[in-house]
Amino acid sequence: MRNWLQKQVNQRPDHPAFYWQDEVWSFTEVEQEVKQWAEVFSLEIPTEEKRVGLFSRNSKEMYFSILALWELGKELVFLNTHLSIQELSYQLSDAQVNFIVTATESLTFLAEVDAVTLIEMVCPGSKKVSTIEIVNTYQLEASASIMYTSGTTGNPKGVVQSFSNHLASALATQENMNITVEDCWLCPVPLFHISGLSIIIRQLVLGCSFRLYSKFDAKTVTDDLTQGRGTVISVVAVMLQELLESYPATGYSPQFKAMLLGGGPISPKALETCESYKIPVIQSYGMTETCSQVVALRFGDAARKMGSAGKPLKGISLKIVDAKEQLLQPNEVGEILLKGKNVIRHYLNGEQWQTVKWTADGWFKTGDMGYLDEEGYLYLVSRLSELIISGGENIYPTEIEHVLQEFPGVKEVAVVGEPDEKWGAVPVAYIVGTSTITREEVNTFAENYLAKYKLPKRIYLCHSLPKTASGKLAKHRLTTTEREAFLNK
Ligand code: ATP
Ligand code: MG
Repeated sequence: MRNWLQKQVNQRPDHPAFYWQDEVWSFTEVEQEVKQWAEVFSLEIPTEEKRVGLFSRNSKEMYFSILALWELGKELVFLNTHLSIQELSYQLSDAQVNFIVTATESLTFLAEVDAVTLIEMVCPGSKKVSTIEIVNTYQLEASASIMYTSGTTGNPKGVVQSFSNHLASALATQENMNITVEDCWLCPVPLFHISGLSIIIRQLVLGCSFRLYSKFDAKTVTDDLTQGRGTVISVVAVMLQELLESYPATGYSPQFKAMLLGGGPISPKALETCESYKIPVIQSYGMTETCSQVVALRFGDAARKMGSAGKPLKGISLKIVDAKEQLLQPNEVGEILLKGKNVIRHYLNGEQWQTVKWTADGWFKTGDMGYLDEEGYLYLVSRLSELIISGGENIYPTEIEHVLQEFPGVKEVAVVGEPDEKWGAVPVAYIVGTSTITREEVNTFAENYLAKYKLPKRIYLCHSLPKTASGKLAKHRLTTTEREAFLNK
């Protein structure tokens, strides 16, 4: 298999490939820069070290490091920069990482980690062509990247993503969003997540341009979208919310094609605002294990299929099954199972997961619950682990959360199940908001929207809620003694 970067250099040498702040590199210039980085890394990291950790926020150095390390045939372990030393140490030891390539700003923090050699990301300097000839090809079945899941439901699992998984994902996205070399994809999401890394893959496989941001800044992104400096952008719900607040009266540039929204649920209210502004939002569903989106809702369907994550992309099979893995009918809620070339086949050191997360005939069990409507559109309902079964009735916490979020003074809310002698489990709500909120008031409000058995039996006022390093609500931590740490005293 050919080297993807090389292929773009051959086909479109002068095409703008990479934008960072006021700088731009063509594919040829990217390749020249990458060769120099690769030369430096080849001197610093022994050839036999197949696996290398990467620890950095988005930066041009991070971008060139990724490409250079792939040129050297390394497997990259992407580390979330918000991890604590303890979480980081777990991932480093699980992935047996001895070398970490990192930004200068993180050297002091990482010095606390035992037994790893730190390599500083420093620009090799002048743009002269490197003397080393890089012949590496991307081997389809080789692992390109290892990323840990967010740890929303428990300990993070190491996801081994092959070049073949990434390729399938890029091609499916191209087909779904009609991506061409004229597109420029804006990346305000982190490269250490699949949402960010998958944009580099699309650039390499599809030849489109790529603009990277150090962090999300609504004003900068709005300016770029207004001035036509991007045709597609990947965002998560909080970013979308901020973009809506700074949406310009004149709208975005006519070149703007799509806003790809992933990572988690979005409020119906935000979607309605997008619809009224005519912002082409593509809602999507995916996970680290599927190397980015596998289900997406085209903008044209947004109003008609409000709340749906869309239809499976080309090459993805999806089914909804019950606890016995029996196929369910349209509109029946069950677990979402997936099969396709961009779905991984195993976790790193994850023998214990093999029969839990894969069926005997190779379907990946997502742990997410949802249903398909008659037309095959997917609706996500809950995580299996968050489902509350109360007196035999299924209660989906998100339904209750959406209602409680509308109560005046509520900033954040998490609904979880608490053991109950009579009902087996009952829903309770953890709320961050004004200190005067009472259960009676909340329930009087919620009664207008929810059946009685769904009303929270207890309300705990909190100063904050437990989050993962990627900012997701880690509800399982509210079902242990750890919850005490979040309660208002
Ligand atoms: P862990 O697997 O360690 O518990 P995680 O599942 O949060 O963590 P990720 O791979 O980052 O790790 O997240 C993927 C999950 O995010 C999906 O399985 C799903 O639960 C949720 N998700 C993704 N897209 C959507 C969406 N459009 N709507 C609702 N939830 C979504
Ligand atoms: Mg998961």
